[in-house]
Amino acid sequence: MSKLVQGYEVVIGFETHAQLSTKSKIFSRASVAFGAEPNTQACAVDMALPGTLPVMNVGAVERAIEFGLAINAHIAERSIFARKNYFYPDLPKGYQISQFEIPVVQGGEVSFFLEEGKETVRKTVRLERAHLEEDAGKSLHEDAALGGGGQSGIDLNRAGTPLLEIVTQPDMRGSDEAVAYAKELHKIVTWIGICDGNMQEGSFRCDANVSVRKPGDPLGTRREIKNLNSFKFMQQAIDYEVRWQIDQIEDGHTIQQATVLFDPDTGETRAMRTKEDAADYRYFPDPDLPPLVIGRDWVERVRSEMAELPRVMAERFVKDYALPEYDATQLTQSKAVATYFEATAKACGQAKLASNWIMGEVSRRLNASEMDIEQAPVSAMQLAALITRIQDDSISNNAARQVFETVWLGEFRVPSWPEGINSIRDWAQRFNALREQLQLMDAIIEAKGLKQMNDTDELEKIIDDVLAANPKNVEEFKAGNAKALNGLVGPIMKASKGKANPGQVNALLMKKLG
Ligand code: ADP
Ligand code: MG
Repeated sequence: MSKLVQGYEVVIGFETHAQLSTKSKIFSRASVAFGAEPNTQACAVDMALPGTLPVMNVGAVERAIEFGLAINAHIAERSIFARKNYFYPDLPKGYQISQFEIPVVQGGEVSFFLEEGKETVRKTVRLERAHLEEDAGKSLHEDAALGGGGQSGIDLNRAGTPLLEIVTQPDMRGSDEAVAYAKELHKIVTWIGICDGNMQEGSFRCDANVSVRKPGDPLGTRREIKNLNSFKFMQQAIDYEVRWQIDQIEDGHTIQQATVLFDPDTGETRAMRTKEDAADYRYFPDPDLPPLVIGRDWVERVRSEMAELPRVMAERFVKDYALPEYDATQLTQSKAVATYFEATAKACGQAKLASNWIMGEVSRRLNASEMDIEQAPVSAMQLAALITRIQDDSISNNAARQVFETVWLGEFRVPSWPEGINSIRDWAQRFNALREQLQLMDAIIEAKGLKQMNDTDELEKIIDDVLAANPKNVEEFKAGNAKALNGLVGPIMKASKGKANPGQVNALLMKKLG
């Protein structure tokens, strides 16, 4: 059962434009590099000069195949390019070449984890299709009021840039789910390298179709929020739109199908135009392009050359490292995180501890300082060394967090650095073996006096003293009050200056108290 907003169920479907990472355009040889002077990257084909013809870019097709394989979709053996007719200054042909009735990628699904209250649940969003198309140019307006010339110009550099439009079924039931889907999709396209994922530059932009309905009713009328280019705006825009639609309906209005824009400054969505239907575009097959035929041998070759996919890697983590599915999915958020995890786990042989530390302490600190894991000041080998010292009972978890912080901040000085080494950073860069990192950890543990007390004689003496000093607690415990134990463990830990091993303290106490 999906959660309701003021008694309404939210329904969302996504259309995402991923700019494909080819060097040249989808039907011409002009470059697609970002940021060039206007109209320096538009050739005769992009300008739609008479007599020019489109030629399919094989690299774009290959990337569509890779995407289809990544999401378990059907790759059409024969798909068709169509003309989508509309008139706009930045579209010199008067139509956009797209795919309509028969797209190259059909079906497939994207799944991800979502926090629901205290639970983590797996959600799957079905994809309807993904099709190849060209981007349009850009209209640039000089605002006279702002000192511009009051003229408009057209930049055709973007015209003909290859796009993969990825369309979902209306399967999402809330803004958090929609954002989680978009993040997962972003992860997939960047992981397989078909798109650079740069949302600021518009390489990955999402349109969110949003409607609301009373549970059990047929689908409501949707409004489409265009060109969401950050996950934060995506969440804000959908939340605003849902509240707006519910207010309208509650006030007795009906929702008109429309295309809307989100204004980050006001946090509101605003209608741009009433929505066109497919009929408005008068689609028909483009006579300039033959059907796109993809043989099974091509698909198989692409499959065999693809790097390990995130979900396949996650399955491997579950199998090889005995990790819970949730951990495995989190650790395959990016290739860099996965690499860091594997390096740590292999070096220390403690995959679950490595996973806990990476998803906990490491990612908390990375988030706080807005860093990627490649920039983490604690190397995988250093984390492995730290985990090794937890595992062999040299330090408690608490002490380990202090050591971790010391390495992270890099403020510790080893009493006798070898020649040419002045900092923990230098140390991490010079040595990439567990042995040297263990030396570093041991030096920090020693200098900070964090070593766990594993000497039973010493500990027994402390325990005997504490028991003798607290006869009341001992009596209460023996009389069956389990809580009285806390009154003993506290003073023992204190007397050991926090260095006693809690497990050992418990075991010894139990032995002594019978
Ligand atoms: P178009 O191509 O005209 O935008 P589609 O029917 O292909 O229209 O749908 C586009 C997107 O809108 C899809 O992601 C689909 O899941 C979603 N969608 C369709 N109907 C609804 C609805 N009632 N509420 C929310 N999303 C919807
Ligand atoms: Mg649409």
